[in-house]
Amino acid sequence: MSERNLKRPRPSFADSPSEVECDWNMGKLPFHHEIRTPSLSPLDHASKAQLRQQLQDLRREKIAAPLLALVSKLMLHRTNQGIFNAPVDPVRLVCPTYYDVIKHPMDLGTIKQNLVALAYVSAEHVAADIRLVFTNALLFNPPGHVVHETAVLLLKEFEKEYASYLRKERDLAIKRSEHHCPHCQGHVCGLCEEKCINFEPPLVMCLGKCGQRLRRHAAYFMTPDGQLNWCAKCVPKLPEFTFGDRVVMKAELVKAKFQEELTEPWVQCDSCMGWVHQVCALFNSEIIVDDDVPFTCALCRLHALESQYVAPTEAQADPVLDSPEKTEPTYKHDDMSTHSPVAKKAKCLKPLFKDPLVLDTPETPTRLGAFMQRWIRDHLVGLGESRTVADSVFVKLASSVRITAPVSEYAQDHFRLNGYAYPSVVTYTSKTILVFQQIDGIEVCLFSMYVQEYGPDCGIPSNDNRTYIAYLDSLGYFRPRHARTSVYQQLVIAYLAFAKTRGFTHAHIWACPTTRGGDFIYWCHPVHQRNPSKERLLLWYKAIIATAKARHVAFGHETLWSSHFAALQSGISSAPLPPYFDGDYWPAELERVVLTPLKRTKKKCADEPPKVKARDVIKAEVYRSLEASKDSLFVIPLQPTCAHCNQMLVNMPHWQSTTGAVCDVCAAVCVDSDVHLVRQPVPSFVENAADDLEFSCPFLDSRSVLLKNCEERHYQFDTLRRAKYSTMMLLYHMRHA
Ligand SMILES: [Zn+2]
Ligand SMILES: [Zn+2]
Ligand SMILES: [Zn+2]
Ligand SMILES: [Zn+2]
Ligand SMILES: [Zn+2]
Repeated sequence: MSERNLKRPRPSFADSPSEVECDWNMGKLPFHHEIRTPSLSPLDHASKAQLRQQLQDLRREKIAAPLLALVSKLMLHRTNQGIFNAPVDPVRLVCPTYYDVIKHPMDLGTIKQNLVALAYVSAEHVAADIRLVFTNALLFNPPGHVVHETAVLLLKEFEKEYASYLRKERDLAIKRSEHHCPHCQGHVCGLCEEKCINFEPPLVMCLGKCGQRLRRHAAYFMTPDGQLNWCAKCVPKLPEFTFGDRVVMKAELVKAKFQEELTEPWVQCDSCMGWVHQVCALFNSEIIVDDDVPFTCALCRLHALESQYVAPTEAQADPVLDSPEKTEPTYKHDDMSTHSPVAKKAKCLKPLFKDPLVLDTPETPTRLGAFMQRWIRDHLVGLGESRTVADSVFVKLASSVRITAPVSEYAQDHFRLNGYAYPSVVTYTSKTILVFQQIDGIEVCLFSMYVQEYGPDCGIPSNDNRTYIAYLDSLGYFRPRHARTSVYQQLVIAYLAFAKTRGFTHAHIWACPTTRGGDFIYWCHPVHQRNPSKERLLLWYKAIIATAKARHVAFGHETLWSSHFAALQSGISSAPLPPYFDGDYWPAELERVVLTPLKRTKKKCADEPPKVKARDVIKAEVYRSLEASKDSLFVIPLQPTCAHCNQMLVNMPHWQSTTGAVCDVCAAVCVDSDVHLVRQPVPSFVENAADDLEFSCPFLDSRSVLLKNCEERHYQFDTLRRAKYSTMMLLYHMRHA
């Protein structure tokens, strides 16, 4: 909860969960150093404060999701013009008396942040804050003033939207109370107080004319093996047809609907016999343990802890615990049943899962992980955050594998220079970097990168000592929220710094916004986390480069156009072939251009040798495309270059003049008295860095495999609730790779 909110008295609602004393304070919760017994859930070892936090988060997140959409709508409303989206700045807006008149300032941006931080107890609290934004504006600005009139309009708009929200909630509540299905048998989850919750349907595309993603509630048609799918509109009309080399009968197509098989799994507590969602309970159903291991839900654990430490009256007065399904828990562990699905499973087949969460277990830390982790923790302390916050971030190199990838035959065919052509394969090291934060003691994966490192033996000389940041994805759950952007940017810089330390000379980034519904690494992003526009993404990377320069990690920045393609286009004979990365922009563009029929130029080149002409046309089109998207194709030198002899000074001390770096040799020769040279040491973070050993984690070695695995197992990241669960499962698979 933000300070702004704490200061302001707010009405209390008897039916809302009380606020816990531990509002996101990881420092109090060092449960990861205990010796563990086999457990089915990390909550088995959670403290009282953590359990209460988990319950609070589960219940508040339900409120937050629809209201985030409502607030975002107001923020983007065309009459708003950004007036109400940030705190009033009395200096910039020249209204020095603002805070004398307005005692309880509020703005939509703050409300949105509070919603994301799960700071609101009830929808009424959110509504009160939204009304406050506009009543403040009505109070400070006289009628007729543009801000006053806009506030009148938006307040009206809000009341309309809010009424419709309340109506929908009422309808949902009725639907919920009537819901009864084989999955839940009418039970309510004791933790989140919901019945069945549906997963996002897998990403299935219609093979018909529309080519769209199949929607959740719509029926569709598929072959019995589920391999081929059509939406109801595009379902083939013919009685028999071929698809590829497969013959399909229309009669064999099956009508399907996502919703049916997509309900979140439940688990029964062996203590209270109540049912909870596996996601809510952070219950790992993939661990196969002995029949004797009972599962105890978080509510029972909390009751047990409360009865140990807290006077019973106090515990009873806590509305958090007053769940409608509350049963008196039994603590007798001999009274175990076999009702939980785990107990029905086979005997121990895998080693017991002892450390579901712990990242700093005595497994060998990787050099890259340790370097980045130190970097980011120091950065957080530098920002003024506490050591506890800093130490809540973990960086892990999750896999490092050697890949030999084929080089596009079009690149081999079309790009030859001075007798040199691309080889048929290129070799690189693919690394998966995952960043976690312990939020209330529970790990959440919130930042990830796939990089390709091309060493001197990669097979393509222009690739030597270059690293390509192939994919980068993040989730908005980092806390505290105000540090999020800078932390995510510093994570990229930390990687670049490590690459520089190891002697890499350039980093390449293709800043490519994801398309709607297209997840790069995480399956299902939060709805409120908008995909950044191309412009915002470019600004984000430019900010990274600027900061990296200030930290002596980067030295200038170029684009793939300025560094390679411009020279190629103008036919400079000494121009080298451009670097070629697996899955990069230009090979894909080349392929697109080659495969697109050249309608416009066909006539013109009819009397000339077609192949040669086509080659030039193709190249020209690729150049045009590269020039048009040059802003998104960053080339970042990680080492300075001597301004005189153009030699790259790889982790060498050098001289710095106003015009650039100067190497020792050139500095000795050109004793130009006008030039003032300053000695520039190698940055302090550059140590003798070696690469990590290679190791594979088949679950996530490649981005597409990770995404597919998460999609198939419903490891979604669209809510904090699910992100905690999915991270737990991700860590489980990493451990059991
Ligand atoms: Zn149900
Ligand atoms: Zn639940
Ligand atoms: Zn269709
Ligand atoms: Zn229970
Ligand atoms: Zn020089």
